[in-house]
Amino acid sequence: MTTPSTPEASPPAPVLPRHFIHDEIDADLAAGKNEGRVQTRFPPEPNGYLHIGHAKSICLNFGLAQRYGGKCNLRFDDTNPTKEEQEYVDSIQEDVRWLGFTWDRLTYASDFFEELYHFAEHLITNGKAYICDLSGDEVSEYRGSLDKPGRESPFRHRTPAESLDLFRRMRAGEFKDGARTLRAKIDMSSPNPNLRDPVLYRILHAHHHRTRERWCIYPMYDFAHGQCDALESITHSICTLEFEIHRPLYNWFLENLPVKAHPRQIEFARLNLSYTVLSKRKLLELVRDKHVSGWDDPRMPTLSGIRRRGYTPESLRAFCDGIGVARNNGTIDRAVLENSIREDLNKRALRAMAVLDPLKITIENFPEGQIEWIEAVNNPEDPAAGTRKIPFTRTLWIEREDFKEDPPKKYFRLSPGKEVRLRYAWCITCKEVKKDASGNVTELVCTYDPATLHGATTDGRKVKGIIHWVSAEHAFEAPVRLYDHLFSSEHPDDVPEGVDWKSGLNPGSLVVAPHPKLEPSLQHAEGGQHFQFERVGYFFVDPKDSRTGAPVFHRTTTLRDAWARIEKRAEG
Ligand code: ATP
Ligand code: MG
Repeated sequence: MTTPSTPEASPPAPVLPRHFIHDEIDADLAAGKNEGRVQTRFPPEPNGYLHIGHAKSICLNFGLAQRYGGKCNLRFDDTNPTKEEQEYVDSIQEDVRWLGFTWDRLTYASDFFEELYHFAEHLITNGKAYICDLSGDEVSEYRGSLDKPGRESPFRHRTPAESLDLFRRMRAGEFKDGARTLRAKIDMSSPNPNLRDPVLYRILHAHHHRTRERWCIYPMYDFAHGQCDALESITHSICTLEFEIHRPLYNWFLENLPVKAHPRQIEFARLNLSYTVLSKRKLLELVRDKHVSGWDDPRMPTLSGIRRRGYTPESLRAFCDGIGVARNNGTIDRAVLENSIREDLNKRALRAMAVLDPLKITIENFPEGQIEWIEAVNNPEDPAAGTRKIPFTRTLWIEREDFKEDPPKKYFRLSPGKEVRLRYAWCITCKEVKKDASGNVTELVCTYDPATLHGATTDGRKVKGIIHWVSAEHAFEAPVRLYDHLFSSEHPDDVPEGVDWKSGLNPGSLVVAPHPKLEPSLQHAEGGQHFQFERVGYFFVDPKDSRTGAPVFHRTTTLRDAWARIEKRAEG
């Protein structure tokens, strides 16, 4: 059995490399802030499935809590009822648990709708917010741009009493969607557009997945986020860099509202990964337009997708910790992620033999009907994994690419007259090549040297190549799905204007091996097991589509980075 990757309780806090957020927190602790507490939160919006970018944020937020003996909440930022669904809430919890983390409190921004409403009334009463009757387009137009200052709304000088009355009537459902908004009264000439009287509440007669029909006004993200942080006694509110320009607003609310805690927002660079997109909106589009089979399609960069592909939580945590936390945006090479899973699976995956593109060989001097049960190691990295017996017979399958009629120099696999070792078994020599009418190789006739089982040749001749094989009599076929990058372009988000980002999709991202021949022991493989098909790659038994005695295999990753080799070749 493989060592299962269990969704157990929080892993022990590993000693991780330091980064700038540690320095910030250490400084706060040294200054005696927050009574020495560290409390973080992971705040996803339940509008899609989590992706690898979120894993970085999860590892960071929960990791900080572990490191400082603090706490981390899981908070659903559910202020956009039209885009949010219970399905997403459920999948997000499953994904966080699978990654190996346990939250302190599970909260929802919607838990705080009443408090947020009262905060809004507080601002109105103090002349710091007003009801504005401009339409959405007008609000944007009045707001100006980075190089053009904003203009004041004609409703800016409404009395607090009038605004309060209108706000209460907004809540009571008197007005249509978009008819009015509540805006903060800050500074229309601020160089920071976020401070130009931002909208705090909008009217939206929509069903909310938790509060149902209770509300028809909803707080904007900026108005909800910091206040929820404060209400949950968060000390460090960690978010991605695009929120840096929102920080003055985050602080403005906290300074102008009757909150006890004053959490601190710290930004870090979001994770970008080559050959994929990391945006829930785009991933949703791929699902909706059926470019993939669903959110958990093994090609998706979602946590449910890469879990189904065979990535382990350990490898993802190692990846997230290894890439570090910085303040400058960059793209991580997908190969780095793949290396982290290779390292992990090398330790835990059972070895097996499978021939994906079979070519038949007959061993002339091996008696017909004879079966030799050959001992093979289950995992050279783990002696406790033991050994198994695999059948060797006169007819075998080998990989078509392990034979070349006209071998180039340094080709150590099979070719006419050449000798090669069959993994765990004997050395064979190719004596004859059989072909069909169109010249395709259909079968090789070979001989074996009975003196070479497991060991060296008796006359000291060197046999360099080792190839894998499966007994034709015992092999069975099962679906083997070979996955590759979802996009052929390295940076699929970077497309010229007018070009569809989906045009970079890789048409070869899923190939099903037509007639793979698998060693018989694999017939009993169970959903959730990891294997290394020797010389081929790491494979995962799909927990979704596999049945007892009928496993379905997903290629988690190749043994080496095939793309690096392609690029090298292209470079000449
Ligand atoms: P998306 O654009 O994919 O919808 P988002 O930022 O809108 O992402 P949220 O649900 O708001 O998604 O994100 C929850 C948390 O995860 C936020 O704190 C956000 O900053 C963080 N996060 C999202 N994407 C990344 C990423 N690529 N790298 C690091 N952190 C991320
Ligand atoms: Mg978001």
